[in-house]
Amino acid sequence: MTSHASPWEMSECVYLDANATTPAAPEVVEAMLPFLLTQFGNASSGHRFGRDVLQAIKAARQKVQALIGAEHDDEIIFTSGGTEADATAISSAVKAQPDRDRIIITALEHPAVRAPCEQLRKDGYDVQILPVDPQGGLDLDAFQNLLTPRVALVSAMWANNETGHLLPVARMAEMARERGILFHTDAVQAVGKIPISLKDSAIDMLSLSGHKFFAPKGIGALYLRRGARFRPLLRGGRQENGRRAGTENTPGIVGLGKAAELAAAHFTEDGARMERLRDRLERALLAVPDSLVIGAGAPRLPNTSAIAFAGVASELLLPCLDQAGIAASSGSACSSGTLEPSHVLRALGVPQKFARGVVRFSLSRATTETEIDHVIAVVPQIVAQMRAGTKPVSGAKHVSGH
Ligand code: PLP
Repeated sequence: MTSHASPWEMSECVYLDANATTPAAPEVVEAMLPFLLTQFGNASSGHRFGRDVLQAIKAARQKVQALIGAEHDDEIIFTSGGTEADATAISSAVKAQPDRDRIIITALEHPAVRAPCEQLRKDGYDVQILPVDPQGGLDLDAFQNLLTPRVALVSAMWANNETGHLLPVARMAEMARERGILFHTDAVQAVGKIPISLKDSAIDMLSLSGHKFFAPKGIGALYLRRGARFRPLLRGGRQENGRRAGTENTPGIVGLGKAAELAAAHFTEDGARMERLRDRLERALLAVPDSLVIGAGAPRLPNTSAIAFAGVASELLLPCLDQAGIAASSGSACSSGTLEPSHVLRALGVPQKFARGVVRFSLSRATTETEIDHVIAVVPQIVAQMRAGTKPVSGAKHVSGH
């Protein structure tokens, strides 16, 4: 492979799994370092070490506020990541409204939303899962009919992690607000990739995660609109205005702030570049016979492409791609020893012959033209060899779509 300039250059591998995670940007690491070494104070301490840190946390909060267009910086609650932000939103909605016993989610939600809702179902809640059409579209009339005074929360993801489908969250939030119902969106895959402005929206809560946009793992945030009903998930200390106990992860918070600043500064050009590269990749791979882009033509993230190759099992294709220096992931989920298409592919009605062979390529602002050239050169060959039975497959290992 020819050389290319990306953070994973040293690995000699084309990393097209940015929806799973990204590295911390060098500027992010640089911003974090003092808070691991010299400015190590606890923000709750009354002395200078604490004060320094408090200032840095405030500055980071304002950068996250700016990235998502929130009206006030105190609407940002730092968490350990997307999973905690989702869990907090769901648990808060039911605890703050004990008289309401229905939750509405969509069929495309991430396990970080599905699993807490499954638990609530076991606890007696009525959990309604809105179906989607093959374009990821929702029946908004059916949704409207579910919006009764029983509903504690509507949670709909902004962008799907496996396919990049964008859901009509702004409209759904307005509909929920008209009925006085709280609205949460898991925007973990959207924040840092597309512009978001919450100020003029009816969204009450939003989850985001740093490691999806070049901040480190283990840091994220929940946006909570001022005045929205809320109960903390973690209780103890008075951190985050009493809304999330636990000594602040200052290096992570500072890193998240820096990553937010970088994303906000480069949105438009990065988005356009990624989309151009993604579209080129899709055009080339669609030349492979019997291939399909999931959600082609639907509103999608600019960086994500889920491509299916009929007659090729993704759990066998991915290790071959790995050997050829391409890191991607699949839309399969291991369940009881069999590889079943994920709930997302099933919800989208992807035909069986394609659903087993889905590969998700997810680009980032660090993805280069040369990397895409490599993928375009290699993937059609490997698929053809696998279909012809001439590609030896060894050590097949499952890689899921996070
Ligand atoms: N929600 C979505 C849509 C995701 O893609 C992910 C991560 O893959 C999460 C939530 C969980 O985020 P975290 O890894 O920060 O807990």
